[in-house]
Amino acid sequence: MNGKHILNEMAPYKQGKQMEEVKAEFGLTKIVKLASNENPFGFSDKLNKELPHMLGQLELYPDGHATELRKKLAATLAVYEDQLVFGSGSDELIQIICRTFLYPGVNTVMATPTFPQYKHHSLVEGADVKEVPTVNGYHDLAKMLEAINEQTRIVWLCSPNNPTGSLIPKNDFYMFMDRCPRDVLVILDEAYYEYVDPELKYNAIDGINEYPNLFVLRTFSKAYGLAGLRVGYGIGNESLTAKLNIVRGPFNTSSLAQKAATLAVRDQEFIRETAEKNRIIKKEFQQFLDEQGLSYDDSQTNFLLVKLPVSGNELFDYLLTRGFIVRPGEAIGCPNAARITIGNQQDMKELQAILKEFLH
Ligand code: PMP
Repeated sequence: MNGKHILNEMAPYKQGKQMEEVKAEFGLTKIVKLASNENPFGFSDKLNKELPHMLGQLELYPDGHATELRKKLAATLAVYEDQLVFGSGSDELIQIICRTFLYPGVNTVMATPTFPQYKHHSLVEGADVKEVPTVNGYHDLAKMLEAINEQTRIVWLCSPNNPTGSLIPKNDFYMFMDRCPRDVLVILDEAYYEYVDPELKYNAIDGINEYPNLFVLRTFSKAYGLAGLRVGYGIGNESLTAKLNIVRGPFNTSSLAQKAATLAVRDQEFIRETAEKNRIIKKEFQQFLDEQGLSYDDSQTNFLLVKLPVSGNELFDYLLTRGFIVRPGEAIGCPNAARITIGNQQDMKELQAILKEFLH
């Protein structure tokens, strides 16, 4: 067969159960989805009021440069407009990065477990993948540096990491950047940036001028609550973004997504409230897990990787019959665990009651 042979050994992304599917299967009226780390509090109210007015001119192509969103975000992040690239979710940016820099014969270095799309798109481009096991859920940065060789083009850092939730501490990150060869691109995926505790948070975007090989990824899908609209962004120096823009499709973010994201950036109070509620509910859930004798990785995100005395699939099947969808660890390279998104207070109370039943 012509084409990329590696595709014969790969499978498309297998998405989790859909809510309507579960409702029908188990005759349930309410489903709580805690499987994809979406925002249980929705999105900014201000957006809700504006949304009906956003539907004008759908017959026209969107602004491929995302001018309005670009201006707003550049001002908010204190970067130059040309230092931004937008994607249909950060998923698409990961794909664009791989298409831009990878080809057969080169390799890319990443943690394991980490966000699976880095490996997926690296393999699609024919690159080799070097996976460095995490230690207690944390990136092993020393081992990742050791894994870099002449053929390494990209190192992926996911901070906070999905699925473990760990944040790369500030000093460790800058030490890594100082030691990493400048011809190796470092992708710092900060999909969960907004959730990080203020006292641990650092603004890696400040480093893009000092480190021309640093590219930071963020998204509107998590704390901003706009996963359904598909918009993410990357920040890096202009020579990097210029290359990525060659590979990027000309109209890759929709007009609706651009407008919604622009409005969402204006409502930073919503983001602060979301992060604060998440911290409180996460702490309550951690206390519950402690009481049940279940351990979990340190998390600076809106999810916890909970270690189980049984397989993640077993817990998944049980919770499904009760209307809760979580992510079984087996699906994300973490056997005997489940990744559970922190939902709203009511849903987490219900989940705790069901978990108690399951465990006893
Ligand atoms: N990076 C990480 C670490 C993620 O967890 C996710 C979503 N699960 C993404 C990137 C992709 O998010 P999106 O495409 O919705 O921006």
